[in-house]
Amino acid sequence: MSKISIAENLELVKNNIEKALIKTGRKDKIELIAVTKTIDVDRIKEAISLGVTNIGENKVQELEIKIPILENSVNYHMIGYLQTNKVKYIIDKVKLIHSLDRISLAKELDKRANQKDCISQVLLQVNVAEEETKSGLKVNELLPFIEEILELEHIKIRGLMTIAPNTTDESLLRSVFRTLYKLKEDISGRHYKNISMDYLSMGMTNDYTIAIEEGSNMVRVGTGIFGKRK
Ligand SMILES: *Cc1c(COP(=O)(O)O)cnc(C)c1O
Repeated sequence: MSKISIAENLELVKNNIEKALIKTGRKDKIELIAVTKTIDVDRIKEAISLGVTNIGENKVQELEIKIPILENSVNYHMIGYLQTNKVKYIIDKVKLIHSLDRISLAKELDKRANQKDCISQVLLQVNVAEEETKSGLKVNELLPFIEEILELEHIKIRGLMTIAPNTTDESLLRSVFRTLYKLKEDISGRHYKNISMDYLSMGMTNDYTIAIEEGSNMVRVGTGIFGKRK
């Protein structure tokens, strides 16, 4: 097995992001979230020393271990399924929660953010392909969901997130990403007062360049930076 070089991997990912962005002709910035689930803090520190500014975790338990060590050397993103009873542990510590997908969670985020006197920055997770194994709102549930949580003043919706199907079918991937992009445009056009559609969090190791071509401005890359997880 060859030794994984985080530096080389990171360089490659950044180059690929740049190339994909050039292809689109867009001038915006792509936020790279280094997904550090199961990765130990020494390797995360190495990534941070190489310029990583955002990390993504999918378990509250792991965030609770890593945040006291890494402190504010990096921004934290909660990208996995968030249990309502764990919100209180991370509410004022994460920069962005990518996985808001149900009313009970929205209410808990609002309540806990209010208690901590902060605003919870969230993305709505959409299960575009309606895969049974994945959480997230269905496409036709999105607008009613938004209308229902608009009044919650300690939540700010900053965009949308999706996890594409695990497939090499490029046309399917493109259609999933395009759907999320269109939803974002549609919601932006409605000018809801508590919403700013700043982020489209889509694209992982296997599909981030395609996601960027289809409008993503926030990619979540784990394996591509740290190598295969154990
Ligand atoms: C694990 C994970 C990723 C990163 O996956 P890779 O294929 O390793 O890049 C991205 N997003 C979410 C929600 C994840 O759970």
